[in-house]
Amino acid sequence: MLPKAQQNTKIVATVGPACSAYEELLALAEEGVDVFRLNFSHGTHEEHKAVIEHIVRINAEFNFHVGILADLQGPKIRIGTIAEKEVMLENGMEIVFTNQKCPGTADRVHISYENFPKEVKKGERVLLDDGKLVLEVVSTDRQIEVRLKVIHGGVLSSRKGVNLPDTSLSIPSITEKDHADLDFILTQPVNWIALSFVRRAEDIIELQELIEKAGHTAKTIAKIEKPEAVRNIRKIVMHANAIMIARGDLAVEVAMEKLPTIQKEIIKLCIERSRPVIVATQLMDSMIKNPSPTRAEITDVANAVLDGTDAVMLSAETSVGLHPVRVVEAMNKIIEEAEKHFAENIQFSIPSPKSRTYWSDTVCYHAARMAQEVDAKAIVCLTTSGFTAFKLSSYRPIRTKVFVFSDQNSILNTLNLVWGVQAFFYDKFTSTDETIADVVQILLEAGKVTPGDVIINTGSMPMHKKYRTNMLKLTLVD
Ligand code: PEP
Repeated sequence: MLPKAQQNTKIVATVGPACSAYEELLALAEEGVDVFRLNFSHGTHEEHKAVIEHIVRINAEFNFHVGILADLQGPKIRIGTIAEKEVMLENGMEIVFTNQKCPGTADRVHISYENFPKEVKKGERVLLDDGKLVLEVVSTDRQIEVRLKVIHGGVLSSRKGVNLPDTSLSIPSITEKDHADLDFILTQPVNWIALSFVRRAEDIIELQELIEKAGHTAKTIAKIEKPEAVRNIRKIVMHANAIMIARGDLAVEVAMEKLPTIQKEIIKLCIERSRPVIVATQLMDSMIKNPSPTRAEITDVANAVLDGTDAVMLSAETSVGLHPVRVVEAMNKIIEEAEKHFAENIQFSIPSPKSRTYWSDTVCYHAARMAQEVDAKAIVCLTTSGFTAFKLSSYRPIRTKVFVFSDQNSILNTLNLVWGVQAFFYDKFTSTDETIADVVQILLEAGKVTPGDVIINTGSMPMHKKYRTNMLKLTLVD
């Protein structure tokens, strides 16, 4: 069976109480969710394990390739519990934040980051509850307590998140909780692992070393939500396997008016560097409650599609919202319409002869160009590592599908995040001629091509050597 929607731009849906049962996940996969995201800021390992088992079962039963993304909480700082559930912080009043545990009041609140008094400086901003409340540092004893002035007050309740956009933090990028979560995640068939609050490329390299040490093949996603990450974006993009523009925290940490241009620049950079990119958070936020999106949300999704993002992500809309399936249906409609107007002016880099992968890069580049010239129905590639699929997709061949064949389901599920890619299992690889005939047959049976269509094959010859892609061929389907 094929999912209902098969657009080029993919949908990532966050799993939560509103959609964690087998039937609910199946309904979302059928509607066209390409990747499920498990948010390790919430839920127990047992709950995540049950969801993973459901997704694995759905893929096996329906021949889907829905990917699984495990999202690590990273160094998120929170306040402690508030004794009376919530307190009102009035503009102009002063309050103490302490690294010693205490019941929170309007005078004194616990903060989970031990080095907070040591690292903040007078005048720096402390944002609470996604930036709804703004405080400013008045003084610090550099050991236990920080005195803060309330600039924009409001109601503060237990365990709210803290953002410190002006402070350079020494907090480790992979926390104790992340390590415990990774011990579990690295025993599971997840395809992508995202790290929150990445600041430098080294944060992602550290995660990659842990994944490799465990003998796991998951690829990494750097969540861009800190000003430092925006400053270091080129190096982060070079090392991470994919990028998430985590607009929730990003919009709190940078001046909110900068968000649209940062989003556009990161998408452009990722396409140039063949890195999948996800635009995340509040794309369809009003549909957490309402049955249809706002005009602004429709335009937001369409703009991300027109800029060429690989994927758009749903958070609370699917995890705790009232209409998870309806949100995916609405999002797909917006994507479908926007893709009809997808610009041919998406920038991508011309392969560089200096690159280690120049030969395969240039085969992919010319495959995408030729596809437009000969009006090919599809580019069909065989891949072992996924590299060819990432490359081909990054040239955004807009009128042509990218059908990817591999003998590893984990690679196919990983590639489900990538723009335009549709995955197929194939494990014969005897000779090039036979394989091309086989994949054409598979595509004919799946109704993906019809006699008379032109397709472009990429592959590697001689086949048994498993070299990088070095072959480009035009095939007439008959
Ligand atoms: C975000 O901040 O936009 C985001 C995706 O992160 P999280 O949902 O983990 O807070």
